[in-house]
This record gives sequence, C-alpha cells and structure tokens, in this order.
Amino acid sequence: MFGRAPKKSDNTKYYEILGVPSTASQDDLKKAYRKAAIKNHPDKGGDPEKFKELAQAYEVLSDPEKRQIYDEYGEDALKEGMGGGGGGHDPFDIFQSFFGGTPFGGGGSSSRGRRQRRGEDVIHPLKVSLEDLYNGTSKKLSLSRNVICSKCTGKGSKSGASMKCSGCQGSGMKVSIRHLGPSMIQQMQQPCNECKGTGETIDDKDRCPQCKGEKVVPEKKVLEVHVEKGMQNGQKITFPGEADEAPDTVTGDIVFVLQQKEHPKFKRKGDDIFYEHTLNLTEALCGFQFILTHLDNRQLLIKSLPGEVVKPDQFKAINDEGMPMYQRPFMKGKLYIHFSVDFPDSISPDQCKVLEAVLPARPSSQITDMELDECEETTLHDVNIEEEMRRKQQQAAQEAYDEDDDDDMHGGAQKVQCAQQ
Ligand SMILES: [Zn+2]
Ligand SMILES: [Zn+2]
Repeated sequence: MFGRAPKKSDNTKYYEILGVPSTASQDDLKKAYRKAAIKNHPDKGGDPEKFKELAQAYEVLSDPEKRQIYDEYGEDALKEGMGGGGGGHDPFDIFQSFFGGTPFGGGGSSSRGRRQRRGEDVIHPLKVSLEDLYNGTSKKLSLSRNVICSKCTGKGSKSGASMKCSGCQGSGMKVSIRHLGPSMIQQMQQPCNECKGTGETIDDKDRCPQCKGEKVVPEKKVLEVHVEKGMQNGQKITFPGEADEAPDTVTGDIVFVLQQKEHPKFKRKGDDIFYEHTLNLTEALCGFQFILTHLDNRQLLIKSLPGEVVKPDQFKAINDEGMPMYQRPFMKGKLYIHFSVDFPDSISPDQCKVLEAVLPARPSSQITDMELDECEETTLHDVNIEEEMRRKQQQAAQEAYDEDDDDDMHGGAQKVQCAQQ
C-alpha cells in the first residue's frame, strides 16, 4: 500500500483544469467533466489542447487509485507509471467511454469517423539570425521521416494477414509492478514492447519484403520553412501532418521553433531594437555623427543637434527603425540608442585652464585658509569597486562556513551564514 509522502509535488493542476475542489466527489468530477468536455470538444470548435487536458485530468481523478497517486506524488509519478511521456489515452476514447457514443445527437457514428490515435509531433529548433527575422527568409531543410510502406499499404505482410501478439494477447498493453519505495508499489500499464502496442505480429515468411514487416519505410523530405518578417524568438512554424506516418494513426505535425542567435550589435526587445554606442567626451559635449548599418544593410546617419550635450547612460530613439511587426511588416518598432561616454584619463594643468574658461564655473563657496589649517591631508586611491565587494563577500562566506564547520555549539554560526546570503 501507500506509505507517507516524502515530498509534496504539484498535485492541484488537474483539479484546477476541471474547476473542482480537491475534495470533490466522483459525482462532482463527472458533472464537471461532462460540462467542460462538451463545451470544449473539437467537433464543436473547441480547443483540442484544452479538450486533451480535460480528458487527462478526468482520466486520472476518476480512477481512485490514480487519484491517490496524484494526490500524494503529483503528475510526474503518474507519467512514469504510464510509460514515460505518453500521458495516458486518447482524449476521444475517454470522451466516448464517458458518453457511450456520440453526445451530440444525430447518427450513431462520430463525425470524426473511425477513432484513430494521433502520432507524435516532431519538434525541431531552427536557428535564425536577427537579420533573418528583420528581413524574412526561407530555409530548406532535409528531414528523414517514416511513411507508410507503399508495397503492403502499411499491413506489413504480403498476404495482409496478421496474428495476435503472444506477448500481450493482442491487447497491445503490458502490466507490470513498480516499487516506488519500501512500502509503495505502483501498477504500470505500458505499450507492449514485442508488438509496439499494436497487439499483432506478422509471420516471418509473410513479411513484406520492402518494409520487413515494419509497415513503414524511411523517406527523405525537403521542407521549405518560411521565416516571416517580425517573427519572434520561440515562435513555432508548423507543418501539419508531416511527422512520422504509422498505420491507423493520424500523422502528427513537424514543428520548427525559432531560436534567435545573439546579434553582435543589436538586441531585440519585442518590436524594438537596442544599440550600444560610445562617444568620447568631445563628441558628447560638442556634437557627433556616425553611420549605423541597419539589419537590411541600409546606412543610417545618426547625428546630434547643434549645441546638444549627450550625458553618460542617456537613451535616444529613432521611430520606425525597430523590428517589423509580425504580419504587419510595414509597421515597425523603435530603434533605441544607448550612449556611453568615454572620459579622458587625465588632463594637464594647462588644458584645465582652457577648459575652465569655457565650462561652467566651480561652485562659489571656497575653502578659507583657516579651514585648510584645521584639515587633515588624505590620499584618494583608484579602486575597482565591483572586484573589492566580491572579494569581501567571498571572505565573509568563507568565515561563516568555517565557523559553521567548527560545530553548532555556539549558535551564532547559523545566523551569520543566513545573513550573508
Ligand atoms: Zn504485444
Ligand atoms: Zn511493406
């Protein structure tokens, strides 16, 4: 039976999906699932993802054993139990077994026709440059995927016949026991490894010569991915039904996920672009101009207004020179320029006289000789403040660790360590 939970993991999500409290009765769960599943059924224009979530939540919570595992160990424990990542059964199966047929009235058969499993989606990261996202581009990618064998049309045999798998008696599933801990066991149902969950095998002599009874053969395919102007890092481009084919399975999608490479000069934030530029002190005080090469190789002339002074850490922006907006590429964000100012390391006394003649006067309050007599001389040293602070922090952490290591006899050690972090 089940021992005490060693740690609490997330075990509220399924209740939230169904919109019921964790104390809900089986009746409450049924009512909640019935209402939500009908509302979100894809045949009625509902969101397939939401529909899947509902089915998954209901499948678990309506089974007292699974519910107990979920309440104690959370979703992950169940996922392991279901044979890794698979995440339970077809949401349409669950829906049908709940309603025992079609809930929408009308004829006997569902509008989806014969129920089929859905194949897995294949996800590929696709590296793109900021230039690609600014200008748009298309990339040709060669991928290998399984397609239904043309010779046997996915039967796997010459005759079209198959036999019941002996490993699972044709059910496609195998049940095994897993030990979670000294006093805990979990029953797991996994797809049969001998028939890959299909429940059938093919006689050696009857195997299709083209696919060797695998029912599918690998095929090379070139996909052209259109990266549109203004697409974002992480955005998905989907090729529906282009993933691996399998018999009696709705083919999943190939999904490319854009991954933007770092740009050496520009940083993107939403529709805006940030650019770092350093001015020297003369440019900051007396004006500057420079050429900025944009992501489409246009040369932008950036210049200050006459008499304008740019201060360190100041930002300026150019309208409509940011990223194009996705699906509205004629609209663009802003190009922000962040200025740093390089100061000279030293200036000679003669140069100071020249500068003092043009720069604003010093503050008027001067120190009197009498005040000077009473002062102590000091020397200012250069410091690297970040380096010094880091060293001090390390030192303090080390001391706290050493003290803690001595023993817990003097109770202060614990406190010191906490205060340091
Ligand atoms: Zn089997
Ligand atoms: Zn074949």
